[in-house]
Amino acid sequence: MSGLNTPQKEAVAYTGGPLLVLAGAGSGKTKVITEKIAHLVASGRHEARHIAAITFTNKAAREMRERVAKRVKGDDAENLTISTFHSLGLRFLQIEHERANLRRGFSIFDSDDQMAIIKDLATPGLKNDALYSLHNLISAAKNNALSPEQAAEAARSAREREAAGIYARYQARLQAFNAVDFDDLIRLPLTLLEADPGLAAGWRERIRYLLVDECQDTNGAQYRLLKQLAGPKGHMTCVGDDDQSIYAWRGAQPENLDQLANDYPNLKVIKLEQNYRCTGRILRCANTLIAKNPHAHLKQLWSQHGDGEPVRVWQCRNNEHEAERVAAEIHYLHQAKEIPWGEFAILFRGNHQSRPLEKALQLLRIPYHLTGGTKFLDRAEVKDALCWLQVLANPDNDAAFLRAIAAPKREVGATTLEKLAAMAQTAGLPMSVAAGQIGFLKQLTPRAAAGLEEFTRIVERLRDVAEKVTPAELVPMLAEQSGLLAMVRSQCKDEASFQRRKANIDELASWFEGARGGGPGELAAQLALLSNADRGEPGNAVRLMSLHAAKGLEFKVVFVVGCEDGNLPHEASLEENRLEEERRLMYVGITRAKERLYLAHSAEIKRWGAVEHLLPSRFLDELPAGDLLRDGSDPERETAEKKQRGRAHMDAIAALFGTD
Ligand code: ATP
Ligand code: MG
Repeated sequence: MSGLNTPQKEAVAYTGGPLLVLAGAGSGKTKVITEKIAHLVASGRHEARHIAAITFTNKAAREMRERVAKRVKGDDAENLTISTFHSLGLRFLQIEHERANLRRGFSIFDSDDQMAIIKDLATPGLKNDALYSLHNLISAAKNNALSPEQAAEAARSAREREAAGIYARYQARLQAFNAVDFDDLIRLPLTLLEADPGLAAGWRERIRYLLVDECQDTNGAQYRLLKQLAGPKGHMTCVGDDDQSIYAWRGAQPENLDQLANDYPNLKVIKLEQNYRCTGRILRCANTLIAKNPHAHLKQLWSQHGDGEPVRVWQCRNNEHEAERVAAEIHYLHQAKEIPWGEFAILFRGNHQSRPLEKALQLLRIPYHLTGGTKFLDRAEVKDALCWLQVLANPDNDAAFLRAIAAPKREVGATTLEKLAAMAQTAGLPMSVAAGQIGFLKQLTPRAAAGLEEFTRIVERLRDVAEKVTPAELVPMLAEQSGLLAMVRSQCKDEASFQRRKANIDELASWFEGARGGGPGELAAQLALLSNADRGEPGNAVRLMSLHAAKGLEFKVVFVVGCEDGNLPHEASLEENRLEEERRLMYVGITRAKERLYLAHSAEIKRWGAVEHLLPSRFLDELPAGDLLRDGSDPERETAEKKQRGRAHMDAIAALFGTD
């Protein structure tokens, strides 16, 4: 336990009952969790297989696994459960599927699938906004672990009553498809555990010690699940920071931190006050800003690092100018200060802000990595590979079957597929099963039948493979044997574009590193989980991500771009209580930086062809002026820095071309 401060040591050693570590950013909360896991294993208090640590995002779980891997080795590391709430829920349902009325290999529906069902069940002709609102209401009910009946009882408005009605039929539909949605991954385990004390006791035998990071972001259902797993004795350590609660819009309830003390009267609370991450000026900015929010728990963070560089506030002309400055600064710092690419992060409020940044980085040949799953998973080759995986995992999934059989195209046309669908429906079979039955094949043209037979053969072969290799190994084999890779090659004009698209498939494979095999069911489920969240960690590249996605991470150099009123705080959040959440978001952004922090805003933006003027974020005025270096406030220093940068660029160019 060397290398920890006194309260951290205390938090690691304490196993006398439930423990809450409540502390500000960068104070070592996550470190306490990883050290505690190592300590519990090393001291023999709990076997690794009885310890579970829960985080919020796949990225955070991956990070934690990496941190723990340095402290816990071999089988013990393998046996630990380090996962998100959702993947823990998934594991639960895979084991207890019969109790949840699910068949083995059930599917997980993502939000597109969900919207399709809701659209089908809702009054015809509803606009998308109305459909989204129904979707949100259903999800909110599920996040509070309400059954359709309870949601109907709790409904106050016509819209809520309508949503509750659809919720009931929506669940029936999921059941018929042998599927669950993301919210069910929490709600179903919770309902089963609450209804059956024997089952709950069994699971507490399995998970004897529970650790939860970012506890402030649990929603109602997750909090109750946590209580079920920790049991009345509360064998758990929760860590959190109410100032970093930024997921209210997804149902997070930071008051759960206080609720813990009510539910566990013997709760021990430990506070950490030393920040190990940020330099003094960055930390003062963070402290001063967050002090503007009303506080239930006062936290005063201090740092031993010196003052460090002033925090730069950049006034740019527009977002392109902003992007160019960011890229140039990164280029300069990388060259002159030898800061690796992976130590830079550019953070923004909304994902749409990434485009000019990507362009500026590309221009300077700076490697970058954009976090945000949807875009990647929307790429054709990735989507196709995904559907193949789903076919392997779940023969019932007709939608996946239809996409997979067209990638690559076989001698199976739309008419054949319609015929097959009709026959399958009459026989009560999924299409992929019907496609393998001789009786059906005889009714088709010989060419179509041959095409279907070939497809079935490939699927069967790959199913065998899937049982034997790890998921990460399966993906490239699947791409090869399904003909997907050949198809992609035939679609590409040149080798470079083929390599780019192939790299996407390889990346898909890397998403599964860390999954523990266990056949195709686990595989597709894992993939569905990932599609809802974030993608694999890149090696050495500048990170672009939303402020929300950056929670828990740290970088030497951080740029927060788009610090304008209307963007951060967002215009939709200007009412008082939401403004506090926006301030917390800014706090999260600022506290990601270890050494250098840049806050950039633009003077104008083009919208629908017209130029709009923008005001700097009100949060910038809330920062301590003495720790900032604003554009134009110190012309001498700026000129000197400009010269220095110019020289560094010349040096870089000289090095590139080998001239003196
Ligand atoms: P956040 O609220 O942003 O999630 P956190 O409280 O979880 O932050 P950590 O990420 O655990 O903080 O720690 C922040 C940094 O400080 C990490 O680089 C960690 O290694 C370092 N750190 C934590 N405790 C100590 C310590 N006692 N000595 C040296 N470094 C420490
Ligand atoms: Mg943390």
